[in-house]
Amino acid sequence: MTQTGNNQDFDVNSAARNWRVEATAQPTPSELVTEKFASDVLTVDQLKTRLSKSAFKSLQATAERGETLDPTIADTVALAMKSWAMEMGATHYTHWFQPLTGGTAEKHDSFLNPAGDGVAIMSFSGKELIQAEPDASSFPSGGLRATFEARGYTAWDPSSPAFVIRHANGATLCIPSVFASWKGEALDLKTPLLRSIEALNKAVTPALKLFGASEGTRVTSSLGAEQEYFLIAEEYYYRRPDLVMSGRTLFGAKPPRGQELEDHYFGAIPDRILSFMTDAEMQLYALGIPVKTRHNEVAPGQFEVAPIFENSNIAADHQQLMMQVLRNTARKYGLVCLMHEKPFAGINGSGKHCNWSMATDAGENLLDPGETPDENMQFLFFTSAVLKAVDEHQDLLRACVASASNDHRLGAAEAPPAIISIFLGSELSDIFERLASGQGGRGKAAGLMGLGSRVLPEIPIHAGDRNRTSPFAFTGNKFEFRAVGSSQSISFPITVMNAIVADSVGHLVEDLQAKMEGGAALDAALADLVRETYTKHKRIVFDGDGYSDEWHHEAEHTRGLLNLRTALDAVEQLHSPKNVELFGKLEILNDRELAARQEIMYDIYFKTVNIEGETTEYMAQRQILPAALAYLAALKDVPEGSRAAAGVSREVGEVTDKLYDALQALREQNAAQGGEEVHEKAHHMRDAVLPAMNEVRACADRLENLIDFKLWPLPTYRQMLFVK
Ligand code: ADP
Ligand code: MG
Repeated sequence: MTQTGNNQDFDVNSAARNWRVEATAQPTPSELVTEKFASDVLTVDQLKTRLSKSAFKSLQATAERGETLDPTIADTVALAMKSWAMEMGATHYTHWFQPLTGGTAEKHDSFLNPAGDGVAIMSFSGKELIQAEPDASSFPSGGLRATFEARGYTAWDPSSPAFVIRHANGATLCIPSVFASWKGEALDLKTPLLRSIEALNKAVTPALKLFGASEGTRVTSSLGAEQEYFLIAEEYYYRRPDLVMSGRTLFGAKPPRGQELEDHYFGAIPDRILSFMTDAEMQLYALGIPVKTRHNEVAPGQFEVAPIFENSNIAADHQQLMMQVLRNTARKYGLVCLMHEKPFAGINGSGKHCNWSMATDAGENLLDPGETPDENMQFLFFTSAVLKAVDEHQDLLRACVASASNDHRLGAAEAPPAIISIFLGSELSDIFERLASGQGGRGKAAGLMGLGSRVLPEIPIHAGDRNRTSPFAFTGNKFEFRAVGSSQSISFPITVMNAIVADSVGHLVEDLQAKMEGGAALDAALADLVRETYTKHKRIVFDGDGYSDEWHHEAEHTRGLLNLRTALDAVEQLHSPKNVELFGKLEILNDRELAARQEIMYDIYFKTVNIEGETTEYMAQRQILPAALAYLAALKDVPEGSRAAAGVSREVGEVTDKLYDALQALREQNAAQGGEEVHEKAHHMRDAVLPAMNEVRACADRLENLIDFKLWPLPTYRQMLFVK
């Protein structure tokens, strides 16, 4: 029998060397970087020069103040867009939208139109700009759209700028859009996000008015998302059916060295990786995405990139573009970018911390504590509103990050626990505690720290330390939601944050007004309200170690916080009466729209694990068993009497039989349905298929460490994680 195990160490060398230098970008001279910024974006300045004054003003009213679009300007805007896009080399346009798959979708149409007699013109009308009708039947709708009413519309979102996406042979004009059914129900992630931004504005401006803000002040949420990802050599990727099918390794023994040396985090960035990063960043700059930070992450082969925060609608669009650019660019360097939350078992997974705050259109950050936070009642009001929001809606925060892939991360000792709590930091906790006890003032204040050498400057110390284990942390002038997964769209998490804070602020404003109508002065009423709110919701505040067993016990049993361990536990809560009321009242999602999201989350969970289960079966049956059997056959050729051959043969034989049994069990579970309803199917995946997969994997990973390396059919962790 011939065995074509394809693992040879020379592969490592070829993978390491396989960096197609000729395909890399021309470096951009530093002085041209600022010119490059937003050069592929139809910016406000571009529009100003291309539109009449009145059309421009009207468009601005929509883009900046959320006023209804004047349909009579659509033709003019379309003309301006087309001429700009053609100057950028675009031949096609597309409504670029975010269906409920969590990705983006685009259907390109050419500007070209035949004008008779073999003549063609390039045209683009206002009608085409405002609305398009892609075939909606193949996008998940969660029952919002029966197949006979397949109509779905995309509609231009004038509050996010259009841009061009380039490729080797041209460019496409992309028009950020929403996607809705013919009944006007949201089939996408952007529509509810835009509605939540509006809801937040509506709830917060009355509070600001009480605090003396000028008439017409608008409020919006800001978001900065930190993207973590892995890079591995492309040839390894294509030799791993699990990575290609499911985005994560379903097999793989722990390498002798993982991240225990802690030498990767913030380490010097290897040349190939840095070239890739710079190339991707230049494209992101051109798209107007203000990427700022890049570094090695904790795990070998893991990296992070973070932009400067932006208005949350634009940040969500940019986040999608960022993932796309990273994935595409990696290929030029012979690399594949893995966005999965847990590509490698036993090695840190990837998240996407979402830094959230609210600001007025004048640029005032409502979560900025200023120099004297204890006296800053407006800040304390909004911060206590966040405490209330997070405490009352732990379920939603957990549900909006729930997925089969994020389950490998949340609750493990590397990412925030599945229990939602808030880290305030010692300074802020202290201020709230003093307020609650009627004491006031503050104990700790930030100061300066000397470093023990005269040549070094004194540096300001932050009064609060950091806490990496908290899922929702106050970090200076924003809250950082850390449970968000690396592969997911940030639109729904932002929608949830906007919604719960809007709801909470709304209630607090009512309470405040009631107190003032009862005769209290604003300051006294505020102090009272902050004290009451903090006292009522302080159980959500936790500054300790979120990974510890004690915390899990205390959170659940003493504090009564939710511990929704798996994605399905959380998804079950999504469509509760409380949440139907919340989203309904704020006009973000109606009952049907929310139910649809729950259904789609179940469905995606089911499909994800189903694919993993079948891929595990395929690989075990067709790659791993044959390798083990081939090794057993080869051992028979060793001259009789070799104790080594007999010993290895016995051990490999035993594990191989176990693998075979586990495989039969998995096959049965893969074939079983678990029920008719989608949530039943999903539960079958969690409760029967995943455990059966784990059994198969455990045997296979043992075999990997036992049999001849040359016979092993898969690139190993040792190879994949260390070639850079
Ligand atoms: P760290 O998480 O290490 O504290 P940074 O302070 O650099 O890192 O911030 C991380 C992200 O938070 C960046 O995207 C940054 O732009 C964003 N950020 C900073 N201030 C705000 C804010 N007021 N609102 C929202 N995001 C913010
Ligand atoms: Mg951070």
